[in-house]
Amino acid sequence: MQRIVVLAGGTGGARFLRGLQQAAPEADVTVIGNTGDDIHLFGLKVCPDLDTVMYTLGGGIHEQQGWGRADETFAVKEELAAYGVGPEWFGLGDRDFATHIVRTQMISAGYPLSAVTEALCRRWQPGVRLLPMTDDRVETHVLIDTEEDGRRAVHFQEYWVRLRAGVPAHAVVPVGADKATPAPGVLEAIAEADVILFPPSNPVVSIGTILAVPGIREAIAEAGVPVVGLSPLIGGGPVHGMADKVLAAIGVESTAAAVAQHYGSGLLDGWLVDTVDADAVGAVEADGIRCRAVPLLMTGPGTTAAMAREALTLAGEVRAA
Ligand code: GDP
Ligand code: CA
Repeated sequence: MQRIVVLAGGTGGARFLRGLQQAAPEADVTVIGNTGDDIHLFGLKVCPDLDTVMYTLGGGIHEQQGWGRADETFAVKEELAAYGVGPEWFGLGDRDFATHIVRTQMISAGYPLSAVTEALCRRWQPGVRLLPMTDDRVETHVLIDTEEDGRRAVHFQEYWVRLRAGVPAHAVVPVGADKATPAPGVLEAIAEADVILFPPSNPVVSIGTILAVPGIREAIAEAGVPVVGLSPLIGGGPVHGMADKVLAAIGVESTAAAVAQHYGSGLLDGWLVDTVDADAVGAVEADGIRCRAVPLLMTGPGTTAAMAREALTLAGEVRAA
């Protein structure tokens, strides 16, 4: 059985995983999820990226939105607002609240996040092993200029959701990552993998944060198996979201080629760019990364599964080379 490890953020990662499951139904898939987006709200621990993967693969996701639960209602949020208790900019629905209550209760009882995630997945049966990158607290902060307080760091969610990435980001810092250790099973899964995939997730605040946990990047580079990524940027910009804003903060151009070069040939063996970026193939290959141009828009289950197949084919080429 093929063992596949995928480093995933939220929406882009989760949608790709669904295609991967269709392309390789027999594979044993371990997902290492980003927890840098985690936030404490109303006394509850919220893990947006882990939940997006869990809900998407478990059939509970709000399909159009790409995050949150389907058939959601917002009674609790409205009641909190009636008390003047915010933040109102972060949309937690009633169904979603239950997940965060269970998680917070288990954490208060002493369970690590990895055990909690496993317990939540017993309900959702995502068909993959979902591991948080770490059980330690890591919070991505973004350095911005504000009128009130000058330059200051805000939580990633505040930058992304409240400010809609509308102000320049001067730096992106995964606070706590340097002291974090990989969650149980993470390094083992990487060491035992036959192939490692970077889905079209945000290269800075999703995959970049996972790679910032000491030991993970090294384990991937030393695994000795093909590492293949799919570009989240098409035609010089993100497909959805504001990846260009956080790429600018770390001095990387918002192109498919620049992101491959940012990961580098020390980490990445293969890279898929969209067909509109076919002229980037030469530059990526010149940097020692095998590159192909294929359709990369996840417009439906069929196209997404085809992307996953292309990634596995490229991994096979890398292995044979
Ligand atoms: P988030 O945590 O919800 O932001 O999700 P991820 O980090 O997993 O993914 C966000 C990235 O997915 C963004 O940079 C998008 O450009 C990318 N993305 C979204 N849809 C598509 C798609 O259909 N094709 C490709 N190639 N990238 C996509
Ligand atoms: Ca995210």
